[in-house]
Amino acid sequence: MKQVPVQRVPLALALEAVHEQTTVSLGNAAARVDSAPDKKVLEQATSDLLARLAALQDAFHADGRHALLLILQGRDASGKDGVIKSVYGAFNPTGVQVAAFGPPTALELRHDFLWRVHQVVPPRGMIGVFNRSHYEDVLAVRVRQLAPVSVWQARFAQINHFEEMLHANGVVIRKCFLHISQDEQRARLLARLDDPTKNWKFRVEDLNDRARWDDYTEAYREALTRCSTPDAPWFVVPADNKALRNYLVARMLVDTLESLTPSYPAMQEAVRTAARNFT
Ligand code: AMP
Ligand code: MG
Repeated sequence: MKQVPVQRVPLALALEAVHEQTTVSLGNAAARVDSAPDKKVLEQATSDLLARLAALQDAFHADGRHALLLILQGRDASGKDGVIKSVYGAFNPTGVQVAAFGPPTALELRHDFLWRVHQVVPPRGMIGVFNRSHYEDVLAVRVRQLAPVSVWQARFAQINHFEEMLHANGVVIRKCFLHISQDEQRARLLARLDDPTKNWKFRVEDLNDRARWDDYTEAYREALTRCSTPDAPWFVVPADNKALRNYLVARMLVDTLESLTPSYPAMQEAVRTAARNFT
């Protein structure tokens, strides 16, 4: 692995998987961490982690045993795009694959709900991120009543089987719910309305979804608790504070990649032999 001098700021903050907790708190208070270090400290610590991520990615790509897939879910303006830009921006783009999921097309609706998802799962050696995912099929679909209850209810087990199959085939899955409070979302959506460079991100559907806040909270609670497994854990990321959010996601990714101990393959014997005659 490329050696990067890392002065890691020792912060105690780290994410804990949903299935390791007795209760999952999705109230407004859980979107903040009052004891969080100040912005400067978090940003320095994050930049150290990002340097580490870039070095790990290089070895991960060369190693080629695994794919990494980060699934990002969260309400509108929760920072999914921000995480991709701020954290995934540290990686060499050659080894990164980003996929975003909007409302399914007519063709996608004629297939099973995982069809469009499976096609864009990263291959081994690649680091992928989903901006929304198959979880919309138990979130938006449930809350907006786009399918009968029996259809989306059956999907929790289908999702667990799908992710288990991916894991068995070398895909390392981590899932983050970027959790913002109602007040923070209000402030961010208002800022979007005021900013001509952000107007385009706004849809009427976003306002309808905000009005169904509690229904989404319940839908998230069920999805997170039923689909958090040791091989594909869910993490609730307190996301009102952007610097903290970036730090926590970066740290979780560093821990994940380090746990895989990626290493550079040794030189092939044929290359070594040929290299003897190299002039
Ligand atoms: P954005 O992430 O802001 O570009 O918005 C994407 C929109 O697509 C959100 O409103 C999602 O709820 C919606 N969406 C994504 N996947 C699905 C799905 N499977 N069924 C219905 N709506 C979806
Ligand atoms: Mg949106």
